[in-house]
Amino acid sequence: MTITVVELELTGRCALRCAHCYASSGPRGSHGSMTATDWADVISATADMRISQIQFIGGEATGHPAFPVLLRQAVAAGLAVEIFSNLLHIRRTWWDELFSLPGVSLATSYYSDDAPTHDRVTGGLRAVMRGPGPTSPRPYAATSRSERPSSR
Ligand code: SF4
Repeated sequence: MTITVVELELTGRCALRCAHCYASSGPRGSHGSMTATDWADVISATADMRISQIQFIGGEATGHPAFPVLLRQAVAAGLAVEIFSNLLHIRRTWWDELFSLPGVSLATSYYSDDAPTHDRVTGGLRAVMRGPGPTSPRPYAATSRSERPSSR
């Protein structure tokens, strides 16, 4: 058996409350028992095993305090990194500083262009509709693969 990708569930915390969430994540979720050092060790081991791809997922992976550091470490180790995100609280600077790094791609879920429908799925209309702010997403042309449509 060949392992081609390792998925790291960095956190169980997420601003949304999708009824279908495979990880039962939500605002009350925690970052769990894994420390940042533990995750760094997993990334090193993944690279040592010559596994080419790693995914950061959760919960909202970008909400983990060590997310920027862990992403940079994975990129420096030569791993392709896919980040699953709901894109609600992405810092503007991350688009250039993190998401443009070599081998980094983003995946998200898009349920509907009808706000009430989206809200029914995610339980988060108010968060989505807060409008532009310092952490709001910007339109992007990065990888836009659906975020585990059957389970997340
Ligand atoms: S499916 Fe994704 S966006 Fe929805 S609660 Fe779970 S982690 Fe958050």
